[in-house]
Amino acid sequence: MTTANDLALLSDKARAFIHRDKGLFIGGEWRAASGGGTIGVVDPSSGEEITRIADASKADVDAAVAAARRALGDSAWADLQPFRREALMLRLADAIEAETRSLAEIETLNSGKLIGNTMLFDAELPVHSLRYVAGWASRLNGETMDLSVPYLPDMRFSGFTRRYPVGVVAAITPWNVPLCMAVWKLAPVLATGCTIVLKPAEQTSLTALRLAELCAEVGIPDGVVNVITGTGAGAGRMLVNHPGIDKINFTGSTEVGREIAVSAARNFKKYNLELGGKSPLVITESADLDQAIPGAAWAIFGNSGQNCCAGSRMLVHEKHYDAVLAGVREIAGSIKIGPGLDPQSQVAPLSSRLHRDRVSAHVEAARASGADVFGGECLDGPGSYFSPAVIAGLDHGHSTAQEEIFGPVLCAFSFANDDEAIALANQTRFGLGASVWTRDIDCADRYFDALEAGTVWINTHNILDLAMPFGGDKESGVGHELAREGVLSHTRLRSGIKARPSR
Ligand code: NAD
Repeated sequence: MTTANDLALLSDKARAFIHRDKGLFIGGEWRAASGGGTIGVVDPSSGEEITRIADASKADVDAAVAAARRALGDSAWADLQPFRREALMLRLADAIEAETRSLAEIETLNSGKLIGNTMLFDAELPVHSLRYVAGWASRLNGETMDLSVPYLPDMRFSGFTRRYPVGVVAAITPWNVPLCMAVWKLAPVLATGCTIVLKPAEQTSLTALRLAELCAEVGIPDGVVNVITGTGAGAGRMLVNHPGIDKINFTGSTEVGREIAVSAARNFKKYNLELGGKSPLVITESADLDQAIPGAAWAIFGNSGQNCCAGSRMLVHEKHYDAVLAGVREIAGSIKIGPGLDPQSQVAPLSSRLHRDRVSAHVEAARASGADVFGGECLDGPGSYFSPAVIAGLDHGHSTAQEEIFGPVLCAFSFANDDEAIALANQTRFGLGASVWTRDIDCADRYFDALEAGTVWINTHNILDLAMPFGGDKESGVGHELAREGVLSHTRLRSGIKARPSR
C-alpha cells in the first residue's frame, strides 16, 4: 500500500499549526509543561511522529484548576449576561466554521481518520453544536409555584427554583472523535457560566489545542477555558482527583469510567460518564434487506469501527442469515482501505499500532476458537491498517462477542424468533446503542421497549442529533450529554421558599 506524504497534502494553515510549539493553555496563556515532559504524536497512516505535545505535571494541573476557579468568580465571566455568553459561543462557532478544512486536516493527520469523516464530525458538527447549545444560555429558567405546606394552614408560601453554574468542570475526552467531543464538553460549560479544564486523549490532542487558540481569539475571558495535555494515568487522574473540581464530564472506556465514578463519589463530585458499548443490530424477519445489509456493514465499518455505538453484534433472523452474512462480507471485501487524507479511501487506519494489536488479538482469539473469520488482517507496511472482519459461528459468550473491540470487527449470529433475539441482544454488560431493522411497526415498538440501551434506532444506526439526549444504560454510562439534559446537568438547582403575607 502506498501511504500519502501527509504533511505535503496539508493546507498552509494546518501545516503551520503542526509546526508550532504546543504548550498547555492555562489562564489564557501558553506555557510548557513545568517538568519539561513531552509526548510524541504519531500519524497512524504513516506511523511517523509529526509533533510533540506537553505532558502536564501535578503543578500544571493545579495551575489549570486554580485558573478555572479564579475565572468562575471573576466578574468578567460571572457577571456576563446570558446573551453575551451566547454571543461568544456564536463567535466561536463562526471561527471554527471559517477553518473547518484545516481543522479536519489536522484531525485526520493526528487520528488517521478519513478526511470526509473529520470534515463532517470533527469540524462541522462542532459548529452546529455550539450554535444549538448557545441558545440555552438565555433559556436557563427556574420555576415558580404555589406551595401547600399543609402543617401551617394559616400561612401562605410561594416556591421558586433557580439554576446556577455547577462550577469548575474537568472534561476528559477519547481519541475517536476528538474535536467534536471537546466541543460537546465545552459548549454546555459556556452556556451555563461554568469554567473548564479540558484534557483531551494524549493520542489526539492537536485540535483541542487549536480550539484553545480560537477561544482566546474570539475573546472568551482568560481562565474560562483551560486545555492541558498529558497521559490518562498522569494528568487525567490528577485532574479528576483534584479537590478544586466540581463536576467531571468523561467520555472513554468503561474501566476508566468506573475508576472516575469511585473517585468522584468519595468527594461527592457531580459526574457524567459516556462509556463503552457492544451494540446489537437486529435484522428481523420483516426487515428490508436492501436497506439492512449496507446499514449493518457501515454501522460497524464506519470510522473503522472506532465508534462507541458501533453495531458490533449483528443478530439476523435465520431466514435471512445466509444472505445477510454474504452481503456484509461482500461489502467488507470491496472496501478501499487507505490513508485518511486520500479522498478515495473508504476505511482509514486504526488509531495506532498498539490499538491495532488489540483489535487483531480479538480476531485471532475468535479464529483460534474455530469461528469462521472473514478478513481481519493487519496489512503490511507502515501505519496501522487493518482489514474489516466479519466473524460467524462464534459462541455468543466468547470474549470477542462480549468485549468492546473498538475496531471494524463484526460478530454475526442467527435467531429463530423475536424472544430469542431480544434475549441475545440484551446479553451484554453494556447498554449504549441498539438498532432494529423491520418493516413492521408493532415489531419496532416491541424491540424499542425491550432493548436495554440508551439509544434505540429503527432502520438506522449510529445517528446522533444535538436535540436528542445521549447516554448509556448498564455499564455504558451515567447521565446524558447533548440536548436539554446535557446542558442542565451543568447547573445546580436551588429551591427557594418565601413566606407571603396572609390574606
Ligand atoms: P480511555 O478510557 O482509555 O481514555 C479516555 C480518556 O481518559 C483519555 O483522555 C485518557 O487519557 C483518559 N484517561 C485514561 N485513564 C485515566 C484515568 N485513570 N483517570 C483519568 N483519565 C484517564 O478510552 P479511549 O481508548 O481513549 O477511548 C475509547 C473508549 O471511549 C471506548 O471504550 C469507547 O466506547 C469510549 N467512547 C464512548 C463514547 C460515548 O459517548 N459513550 C464516545 C466515544 C468513545
